[in-house]
Amino acid sequence: MYLVKDKAGKQFLVALYLDNGVEIPAIWKKHCFPGSVIAIMYATSHSFADGQHGVRVEELENIKMIPCSLDTLLRIGDDLKKPTTSGECASCKSPASLRCSKCSVVNYCGADCQLRDWKERHKLDCVAIQKVVEWKGRNWKRFNEYWMN
Ligand SMILES: [Zn+2]
Ligand SMILES: [Zn+2]
Repeated sequence: MYLVKDKAGKQFLVALYLDNGVEIPAIWKKHCFPGSVIAIMYATSHSFADGQHGVRVEELENIKMIPCSLDTLLRIGDDLKKPTTSGECASCKSPASLRCSKCSVVNYCGADCQLRDWKERHKLDCVAIQKVVEWKGRNWKRFNEYWMN
């Protein structure tokens, strides 16, 4: 169970009700920290037995732990809208010729900048970017089907 805030700052609970045998991924411990983001698909308001309100999640594939703040996530979203074919170094703003091989989004002028940025910031950003890209690539038709059924 997680205590979260929505964009407007309203606090509520997110409760997981998973099938027997479905385990929470160990990586969540690393990705879930105060201020990090939980993204939920098909989220609907739920009243729990004890009178509290929140969101009930039954399928693990509908929830993602994103290891960055909401501000960072929004910045990543903006970055993803920019064309990635050309670009400037994410660290020193020089013309970039390299790209992070993990996320294929962030550009660097060279290995020094990449290494520095990785230690300072990109290590967690990179995971967040990959998750955003993964979600953007989902079959969103299923979303409509979900509500039609
Ligand atoms: Zn650079
Ligand atoms: Zn990356």
